[in-house]
Amino acid sequence: MARIYLSPPDIGQAERAFVQEAFDGNWVAPVGPNLEAFEREFAAKVGSPHAVALASGTAALHLALRLSGVTRGDEVLCSTLTFVASAAPITYLGATPVFVDSDEASWNADPALVAELIERKGRAGKAPRAAVIAHLYGQSADIDPILAACERHGVALIEDAAEALGADYRGRAPGSVGRFGIHSFNGNKIITTSGGGMLVTADKALADSARHLATQARDPAPHYEHTTLGYNYRLSNVCAGIGRGQLQGLDAKVARRRAHFAAYAEAFRDLPGLVMQPEAPWGKSTRWLSCLTIDARAAGTDRERVRLALEKADIECRPLWKPMHLQPVFRSAEHHGRGVSDRLFADGLCLPSGSGMTDAERARVIDVVRGAFGR
Ligand SMILES: *Cc1c(COP(=O)(O)O)cnc(C)c1O
Repeated sequence: MARIYLSPPDIGQAERAFVQEAFDGNWVAPVGPNLEAFEREFAAKVGSPHAVALASGTAALHLALRLSGVTRGDEVLCSTLTFVASAAPITYLGATPVFVDSDEASWNADPALVAELIERKGRAGKAPRAAVIAHLYGQSADIDPILAACERHGVALIEDAAEALGADYRGRAPGSVGRFGIHSFNGNKIITTSGGGMLVTADKALADSARHLATQARDPAPHYEHTTLGYNYRLSNVCAGIGRGQLQGLDAKVARRRAHFAAYAEAFRDLPGLVMQPEAPWGKSTRWLSCLTIDARAAGTDRERVRLALEKADIECRPLWKPMHLQPVFRSAEHHGRGVSDRLFADGLCLPSGSGMTDAERARVIDVVRGAFGR
């Protein structure tokens, strides 16, 4: 039996056709018709006026922070429960991350905690320059109150929607609310370009600046002229072709991932101490990954034993993200928490959730989890 992966790529025929067009037109470069069309189609899909296609989600975060004016000595708020890519670009610019804990409803940044922190620092005349708020596992953070707190103190809101493409927040797409939103098309995300990212914004001037910085900040001149330094961050036109095909299948991929989650929830209903990730009342999750927690006191087993049983059956699974304030690299960083993300990391598990996973493969995962509970 083949190994079952957590979230492998799920590629169809449309992708091949767009990639073939890139070859046929000799647009094998970080410029071309797929790139322009992918930006246009993506912007329409998420309801953001402007989209800039980039080499990765991390590159998009780096540009968003730089265009928010983040510089040496600034503080930037950041979700502590997230992938390291949310926080690393803060340090690329010489700024300092300040980590905030999750709420129980969504597992994303607690809006009350974020607002309290911005108010306190703002009143002391030391408002953070920006806030990076992650929307994890396909679910939006409660972003409206966070935006309101940011606007009161001139804090640039950057939404890390790398895991939340296709999700809903009160009728809007996560990533389209703040000054910037970023998306990722890494191989394990809900759609992939093998590697890639997107920066979205409602501000045309900021989108133009992002494109400029992403192409080595070349000024208009027949020779190469530079008044500032940029980066080589543009997405390839070949990869953009994969992205165009993937985007056409997004709604079906969301539906399939939600079906996996519903099947797991149904199959585990009688398992003591096992709780599936809640869906917050303010939106609809894509269930990019099916996540759960196991309370060892009630379960008669624990997360680690379930994880090892799955691994032994050749099924890939992972604990939830290890919070940034627990990472050795950020051990001296400021952190504001009530222990929510610490508990999620101790008890949480992500199960295979790929849109290409078959019902039979999912049944194998269910059998192993139930077996670990002695059922
Ligand atoms: C994947 C991911 C990123 C980074 O995206 P890349 O395209 O891999 O650079 C950033 N933030 C979160 C929360 C992610 O899951």
